[in-house]
Amino acid sequence: MWPAGPEGLRRAWTALRAGAAAGKALSGGAAAQAQSRPPCWSCGGAAAEEAGDAHALFCPTCRALQPPDPARDYFRLMDCCRSFTVDIRKLQRRYQQLQNLVHPDHFSQRSQTERDFSEKHSTLVNEAYKTLLIPLSRGLYLLKLSGLVIPEGTDSEMDTQFLVEVMEVNEKLAEAQSEAAIEEVETLVKDKQKKLTEDVSRAFEQDDLQKAKELLTKMRYFSNLEEKVKIKKIPS
Ligand SMILES: [Zn+2]
Repeated sequence: MWPAGPEGLRRAWTALRAGAAAGKALSGGAAAQAQSRPPCWSCGGAAAEEAGDAHALFCPTCRALQPPDPARDYFRLMDCCRSFTVDIRKLQRRYQQLQNLVHPDHFSQRSQTERDFSEKHSTLVNEAYKTLLIPLSRGLYLLKLSGLVIPEGTDSEMDTQFLVEVMEVNEKLAEAQSEAAIEEVETLVKDKQKKLTEDVSRAFEQDDLQKAKELLTKMRYFSNLEEKVKIKKIPS
């Protein structure tokens, strides 16, 4: 998990003082580009021509469900442009459409192979949907596709002012006793996340991946705070 609260902050401070090395960029990603798709596993017939089409999930000849295509990233799977800006309603429609096609319930009477594929598709579609739905995970995924990964726990480059800000919000939440006081912190955190989301969006638009990386690291802190607010709101 992402380091929480005082623990994480202390580690961040230590790393800050030690001047630990910056997060390393990872190579890889889109190595396997679109190749012609393998023939149907069941009848050996040629695959559907357009892999982007939901109907390409099934063999055009025998209608058998095909395995997930590993060359498709989440954006292609969910029929979205590879961008930080995502049409959420379109994403939700696509999610429903795909789940209607691949849900394991529809395959209970089919072969074990198709049942296995439907499980795989269904898990993949859920994962893709969740990843693209939330700005933080969407941003991290976009960075990953560009070969940039933010390793957990290495916030050595985080500016001191920001860490102090996070610490103050943490304290405010810890001290909040009334519902109104918790809601005040909640609003503060939500506003901050909104602002960060806008900034991340701009950074991606300008193709400034380093800036996006820095902002997404900050978003992780506030996402963590969001979780804490949620927990505190649950009456014990
Ligand atoms: Zn077939």
